[in-house]
Amino acid sequence: MTPVDLERQLGAYVDYLRDMGVYDLFYRGHPAVSFPERVVEKPSAATQSEIAEPQYVPSRVVEPARHYAAASPLDPPDISSEFPSPMAKPPSLDAFAPLPTRTIPAADRLAALESLRAEIGDCTRCPLAYAGRKTIVFGDGDPNARLMFVGEGPGADEDASGLPFVGKAGQLLNNMIAAMGLKREEVYIANIVKCRPPGNRTPEFIEATTCSQFLVRQIDIVRPEMIVALGATAATYLLGVKQSLASLRGQWHSVRGAKVAVTYHPAFLLRDPRQKVEAWKDLQRVMAEMHLVAPKRP
Ligand code: URA
Repeated sequence: MTPVDLERQLGAYVDYLRDMGVYDLFYRGHPAVSFPERVVEKPSAATQSEIAEPQYVPSRVVEPARHYAAASPLDPPDISSEFPSPMAKPPSLDAFAPLPTRTIPAADRLAALESLRAEIGDCTRCPLAYAGRKTIVFGDGDPNARLMFVGEGPGADEDASGLPFVGKAGQLLNNMIAAMGLKREEVYIANIVKCRPPGNRTPEFIEATTCSQFLVRQIDIVRPEMIVALGATAATYLLGVKQSLASLRGQWHSVRGAKVAVTYHPAFLLRDPRQKVEAWKDLQRVMAEMHLVAPKRP
């Protein structure tokens, strides 16, 4: 894609948001997009002498900056800790599309997922496409899984491999799955966003809600009985609520016909291993509901 195409695409994206009634667009520092110099078509010799303007549009480099400096009253307000617009409360995944009235036959689910992956293509629907992602991490696992895990978004290892949860957090997730008496291949694993946010930052509202349309369809194809939301971002965008993890844990929620349990993200558990006991309680509730039996420890 040329820089001119890129600029046109971003312009179209902003127009689309305006059409959707989103006017309050603030630049918050991500992704870092640089527009190299755009060459303007050279005028003919006849008109050249009449044109005083330079022939090149100066390059525009957007610097990554997380916060606005309140240097001048003309500066936009610092909204970095707030939601950017009245649309800020994310819609629950139930609000994206009517619940499917029929299930896809088990034998056709793999093909349905492959066709959805093909539809996503080399996605440029949200800014993460321009923020250094290498691979779109679609999802992985059994297309007929009873249990689905949903994380936040790919990290560096996932971006490199194209598979969700393959780094350190993924190893812990594998252990959690094994402790439940399941194999990784028996569950389905996906994320709220399919592209790596730069520096592993939390996905922005617009990135998460743009990508959610595909997660909805993955869930509708797989039709898991149970979904485990891993961490606050997964819970927020699955359930359409902005609440503390503490208030969401320990209860049953529902999304697209599946029961949803909320627990800690494995990356958080790696930072604070004391919370593993709490996460195990969450998983045991899921196991009891699904009649799963923990394997005997050797
Ligand atoms: N963290 C996530 O939320 N998802 C992954 O796929 C990997 C790490």
